[in-house]
Amino acid sequence: MPVSDDEKVTIPEVLPIIPMRDLVLFPNLVLPLFVGRERSILALEEAMRGDHHVGLLAQRVSDTQDPGPDDLFTIGCAGTVLQELKLPDATARALVEGIARFRVVEFISTEPFLQARIEMIDESEVTPGMETEAAMRALVADFEKAAELGKPIPQEVLMAAGAVEQPGRLADFVAFHLNLKSEEKQTILEAIDPSERMERTSTFLHKELEILELGSKIQSRVQESMTKSQREYFLHEQLKAIQQELGQYDEIQAEMDDYREKIAAAGMPEEVSEKAEKELGRLEKMPQAAPETAVIRTYLDWLIGLPWQKEDEEKLDLIEAKKILDEDHYGLEDVKKRVLEYLAVHKLTNRMRGPILCFVGPPGTGKTSIGRSIARSLGRKFIRMSLGGVHDEAEIRGHRRTYVGALPGRIIQSISQAGTRNPVFMMDEVDKIGADFRGDPTSALLEVLDPEQNNSFQDHYLEAPFDLSRVMFITTANLLDTIPPPLRDRMEVIHFPGYTEDEKLHIALQYLVPKQLTEHGLTAARLEICDDAIHSIVRRYTREAGVRGLERQIAMICRQVARRVVEGHRGKTKVTGRSVSRYLGPPKFNFGMAEKRNEVGTATGLVWTEAGGDVIFVEATTMPGRGKLILTGQLGDVMRESAQAAVSYIRAHAGQLGLEPDFADKLDMHIHVPEAAIPKDGPSAGITMATALASALMSCAVRREVAMTGEITLRGHVLPIGGLKEKLLAAHRAGIKTVLVPKENLRDLVLLPERVRSEMEIVPVSTMDQVLERALVDGCAPGGKGPRRA
Ligand code: ADP
Repeated sequence: MPVSDDEKVTIPEVLPIIPMRDLVLFPNLVLPLFVGRERSILALEEAMRGDHHVGLLAQRVSDTQDPGPDDLFTIGCAGTVLQELKLPDATARALVEGIARFRVVEFISTEPFLQARIEMIDESEVTPGMETEAAMRALVADFEKAAELGKPIPQEVLMAAGAVEQPGRLADFVAFHLNLKSEEKQTILEAIDPSERMERTSTFLHKELEILELGSKIQSRVQESMTKSQREYFLHEQLKAIQQELGQYDEIQAEMDDYREKIAAAGMPEEVSEKAEKELGRLEKMPQAAPETAVIRTYLDWLIGLPWQKEDEEKLDLIEAKKILDEDHYGLEDVKKRVLEYLAVHKLTNRMRGPILCFVGPPGTGKTSIGRSIARSLGRKFIRMSLGGVHDEAEIRGHRRTYVGALPGRIIQSISQAGTRNPVFMMDEVDKIGADFRGDPTSALLEVLDPEQNNSFQDHYLEAPFDLSRVMFITTANLLDTIPPPLRDRMEVIHFPGYTEDEKLHIALQYLVPKQLTEHGLTAARLEICDDAIHSIVRRYTREAGVRGLERQIAMICRQVARRVVEGHRGKTKVTGRSVSRYLGPPKFNFGMAEKRNEVGTATGLVWTEAGGDVIFVEATTMPGRGKLILTGQLGDVMRESAQAAVSYIRAHAGQLGLEPDFADKLDMHIHVPEAAIPKDGPSAGITMATALASALMSCAVRREVAMTGEITLRGHVLPIGGLKEKLLAAHRAGIKTVLVPKENLRDLVLLPERVRSEMEIVPVSTMDQVLERALVDGCAPGGKGPRRA
């Protein structure tokens, strides 16, 4: 009787044989069997009758239904049936534990079941050497790897594999659990030599590993491509589903469609509409809750809102234009003439080429108002923008969209507000534009105003060019000097010099009073403001070149009358020169120089400020000292130098003025220009300061009714100055009777209103001698009665 070495179990020489489909049993392992075929059941029963031993042989072809001896391999595994369970349908289940390999010697019967004479195969294992040990470890490692790669091997099986000590047994163990094909398992079963068996197992295991690795590679590649393209898609679909569920989806889609239509209808140039489409595409793909959607929406709204093509139809009839200008404005003949000429050129060339108009003059002189009338006569929209205090280029050109809260620059904003691309665009205060570390707005402004470049104005926010060439730009400024020179070069300057008292009266009666009446809901039947009331307001309540203050005062009267009307007052209110103070309070200014006396050391000068011309009083005094010159009254550099020049002139001409040659060694001189809080500058007070100082040094009074303006040289020449017309108007307003002006300025007098010229004596002077002769009281002038001591 053959004996299995390991188990010391005696196996009978003849065994009932159960053929197996797709299954191979190995020694020391337990296999559950499902026994269905009749002969197999009988064989099982035979085993159970005896000592539970069976021989298991694999079929060569698993499909064979009722295999005979030739259909079976000849090497198999003998085993003990540990358990048998008969099922109601006459089949059975059995649990068989492998004992040892056997070889079939011969089949002794095939009916009623297969029965064979067998011989056990000697499997005596040796203690493994180092090499075998290494091979065993490698096999276990590969086995574990297979589990890692997804082979369904339970953890306890892996642990059991590590505990197997003999190579042949380990090979069986691994082969059994690897789920190999049955013929593969059979080859392992047939490998009697333990190392041969190890090798075969390891070959199959490697093959298995390769397949597993390939599988996981393919899977990860598939997953990767999924992540990239489809993940997003899936998320969007999910989002859409959620939105639909919430009833939002249709709204969003409708909004996108709406955007698309608006982009198509906005008349954008192709490159811009492409950009808009691109942004819209981004918006659509984005989850609607993302903060960036708001940024894109705002951007699209700006693009859509701009008048890319929209413009007002222009009508330009010069006769009509003249009518409108006259209708809206009193006087300003020169301005109107220049404006009409400009419009005529525009009509002939049909383009906005040529210099930009620049209106220069004090506040309230009608600059804005003329601009409005130009727009009206052209049938275009009128927009205004102030450049005062603009330091940053980004204010003109906008911020790039990467900035939080970025917006287009003020130019594009204004155009967007206007809603047409050909408005009359007035830029106020070009003289107040500044430059600092944030950039120079002037250069951006140059691009805006330059007809050669502004057809593709680049705004940083829009990132797309906008055509500004149809816009009619007009700039305004209070002073010409402070306009950056490159800008000034491109502009055609039209001066608004300010109004005479007479003109103000007309403007008030014909324009300001009716306008204020309407604005306050009054009529001429309710309120009459008499001529002398206007006169009084002009003289005693305002001191200005324009008519803004005047208009304000008229509005103040209207307000009070409106209140009385509402309170039930009936009848008409008449405001006269006498009753003005009832509405406006006590007079704010003195008119004329009447109350002033001729004084020593005080001379009357004329200056030109942003508010127009003005009258100033220069004071000079001397005190014991050592020739120091003190200057006060917030004088600018140019004015200080001018004062130095005046002193030098007097010192150089001391003898001629009847002063002691060394007078300056014993005296300090102080020149002060009152209204010290207001900064003053410019060279035009030169002769005034020299006169005041000469008067102080000579102890000789200056005539109160004489005012003067002019720059002084060291040799005592009088040089021309700017803004003469404004200064003369101011002198006239102040009731001055004689004005000394530089001889070279005489040509400017042509522009002076006749009335002003006839009411004042204008004396041209070219030297300081002439100035002193006219300014000092009789007998004081050099060459007069004789010197006075200082
Ligand atoms: P500016 O722009 O020069 O500061 P505005 O044009 O705003 O001055 O003028 C101030 C006010 O004076 C406006 O109500 C304007 O209509 C009025 N005004 C100025 N000049 C005249 C004029 N020549 N005729 C009629 N109204 C005038």
